[in-house]
Amino acid sequence: MTASLPTTPTQLYIGGSWRDAEEGATLAVENPATGDVLTHVADASVADGRAAMDAAVAAQADWAATPPRDRGEILRKAFEIITERTDELALLMTLEMGKPLKESKAEIAYGAEFFRWFAEESVRIAGRYSVAPNGATRLLTMKQPVGPCLMITPWNFPLAMGTRKIGPAIAAGCTMVVKPASLTPLTMLWLASVLEEAGLPGGVLNVVTTSHTGDVMEPIIRDPRLRKLTFTGSTEVGRSLIEQSAEGVLRVSMELGGNAPFLVFEDADLDKAVDGAMLAKMRNIGEACTAANRFLVHETVADEFGRRLAERMSSLSVGDGTGESIDVGPLVEEKQRDKVSELVEDAKAKGAQVLTGGEVPGGAGWFYPPTVLAELTRESKIWSEEIFGPVAPIFTFTDDDEAVAMANDTEYGLVSYLFTENLSRAMLVAERLETGMVGVNQGVVSNPAAPFGGMKASGFGREGGDEGIEEYLETKYVGLAL
Ligand code: NAP
Repeated sequence: MTASLPTTPTQLYIGGSWRDAEEGATLAVENPATGDVLTHVADASVADGRAAMDAAVAAQADWAATPPRDRGEILRKAFEIITERTDELALLMTLEMGKPLKESKAEIAYGAEFFRWFAEESVRIAGRYSVAPNGATRLLTMKQPVGPCLMITPWNFPLAMGTRKIGPAIAAGCTMVVKPASLTPLTMLWLASVLEEAGLPGGVLNVVTTSHTGDVMEPIIRDPRLRKLTFTGSTEVGRSLIEQSAEGVLRVSMELGGNAPFLVFEDADLDKAVDGAMLAKMRNIGEACTAANRFLVHETVADEFGRRLAERMSSLSVGDGTGESIDVGPLVEEKQRDKVSELVEDAKAKGAQVLTGGEVPGGAGWFYPPTVLAELTRESKIWSEEIFGPVAPIFTFTDDDEAVAMANDTEYGLVSYLFTENLSRAMLVAERLETGMVGVNQGVVSNPAAPFGGMKASGFGREGGDEGIEEYLETKYVGLAL
């Protein structure tokens, strides 16, 4: 029996009020484990989007003038409420997104941590005072909030992709309009109600759910009052949003797609490498921009690595994520499963050997089994396309130069992983990898205290760490002739 949906708001949150969309329009939210409709949420129109923008603009001046400690305390309170209500939110998230409860809980711990981190950062925003080189003047720099922001988030981490934008914006004194993915709007609405409870003044955060995504977002992006656009999602959509944001010369942050290489050198500790591979591949059912997409393994250890990885992958339990013992839930929608299946079929047709998985199961829900493929060639589509599912393709290399060249042979540059027991090799290879993040002997790099972000077609800007709040601050310089 499917668990029942926890109580959560389903209306738009604009200017501190919950309200229906224009003409009462709604959009359905489905459970990917069953295909059943869970509930309906408000389906915002262009006018609703404009109202959210108006509310963010109206709240900006007062919010920027609110003492940093007060802004931080609201984030801290929200962190505590989210943490206390983890079980309720985990169920909500699992029902709308499909990931197993333990993955939802892990995302909640990670996502809430951005609020705690930025609660602490809000009181550390500072400028500097220095003497000009010629001694004649003084240079004063101050940090000020950028202003109203638009935040567009994806479905794969419905909480954390929001909190790592909302946290620093609140801390910096910016107001915002947030648009969650249409597939997973409930988590963001739940979060808005928590921030309201934590004392966030009306208008600082406005949440718009809509199925008319481009039509509602574009006028906001082109609104001259908007000062910043921050987006997490596909590179394809990111490119078009960068174009739209050129009109207003917006501050822009883009967290886009990935094609992470996972390098295993011949001197790697294979126990660590397989443990790391399970995390890098199976966190979030492989539906992560940081998911290991290409396993590049030294030819002398590839068979052993593949055998052990297939053994671990085939032992995972697949099913409706609300079951406590489930390791792997369904993919988020039919289209996503079709894409994963097509990539595997293409690899098979080009000679890949299936070590485990590789077949779409029958029955309801968008399930795909944990799969390991070996003996792949770079002609397979899987070499260059983001899989976003539980499939681990293994390629081989002969030396470090080839490993680095293979790792960098992609338009993306978000994260790479490398496994070796030789520290010099680890650092020399890390320096040569064209990615914004590198995991050495570890399969997860995400950490609220670290700057998350990519290079190349994976985007620009950083979320988390000391860098995260800078994205929401302008630096103003005042020259003083004394
Ligand atoms: P997506 O299709 O690009 O959607 C992301 C968000 O953009 C959703 O809210 C979506 O709304 C919205 N959107 C779609 N078309 C739009 C348009 N024309 N104008 C304005 N907004 C638009 O990506 P996705 O499939 O949800 O997410 C998966 C992608 O996100 C993957 O490529 C993954 O690598 C990337 N990702 C990157 C990071 C990172 O930090 N680098 C983290 C997580 C995910 P609708 O839902 O209404 O379509």
